[in-house]
Amino acid sequence: MKATHMKIHAWYQANGRHTLPWRTTHDPYAIYLSEVMLQQTQVKTVLERYYFPFLERFPTLQSLGEAPLDDVLKLWEGLGYYTRARNLHKTATQITQLPEDIDALIKLPGIGKNTAHAIAVFAFKKPVPIMEANVKRILCRIHTLTTPTPKELWEIAYRMVDHTNPFDYNQALMDIGSTVCLPKNPHCHTCPFEAICQGKEEPTRYPTKIKKQTPTRHQQLLLYNHQNTLALTQRTGRFLHGLWGFEACETLPSDTLYLGEVTQSYTHFKLTAQIHLCRESTPTQSHYFSIEEIERLALSKVDAKIVKLFLDKI
Ligand code: SF4
Repeated sequence: MKATHMKIHAWYQANGRHTLPWRTTHDPYAIYLSEVMLQQTQVKTVLERYYFPFLERFPTLQSLGEAPLDDVLKLWEGLGYYTRARNLHKTATQITQLPEDIDALIKLPGIGKNTAHAIAVFAFKKPVPIMEANVKRILCRIHTLTTPTPKELWEIAYRMVDHTNPFDYNQALMDIGSTVCLPKNPHCHTCPFEAICQGKEEPTRYPTKIKKQTPTRHQQLLLYNHQNTLALTQRTGRFLHGLWGFEACETLPSDTLYLGEVTQSYTHFKLTAQIHLCRESTPTQSHYFSIEEIERLALSKVDAKIVKLFLDKI
């Protein structure tokens, strides 16, 4: 692997995204935050709207742990997958410094095997691999693997990692995956793995793509409207826990006004919600908010869409 490591290093020096802020900091908390934000979100979105405001408001794990969860969720609004924010906050209430050890990292809320490895190598320069989607694709193609198990992939990744400069090696793999070893048209002629890649003749065969059918959930949502205010509740179940929103209802009252439909895609299902308005002469719900107050609450994307629909129609 030595010759390949040298090629990867040269490629990274010439083409790597060295200026990404989580690559220029030595602060383990900032690196941990970036890893969590990047789990389900594109670099551009994280950079433009979330990473810097979050660090400015919560510059340390301690400041994050001392903040109310509502404030954390509000700053996370629109980023989705709110369990990430709740777990970050929970971790921050438990520790003020991240451990360096992978086994200790994995015990923290929301830190899985890949995130633990990413923190270990990027924050603490441990000679370990990472295993995100781009890296998996590269490994599958190099070794012509169609349906490898996670164990197989981790074993290969550990065999290949550059112990001399694991930080650059892993960052390079992510950049190669997002700019060279592309899902559809990989640029093998510019790839530092070309000499050892067994799958370069038919790269798109590896790995086999398994198409998942996403079910659609249909809901009726009732908006309670009293004197320019809307009733919202703070969710307590697992789904969108802690966020304010509108509750689904089984049976609609007869005198409601149909406002329209909103849809939202989640990891495991698509939500289609029919929105109905109930104008009340006297308030019947616990918490009513003006539009200005709603803007200060942490709302999920679907609830923000419902508020917009209400404002457009009324
Ligand atoms: S040679 Fe081609 S298929 Fe192989 S890792 Fe590089 S870009 Fe991917």
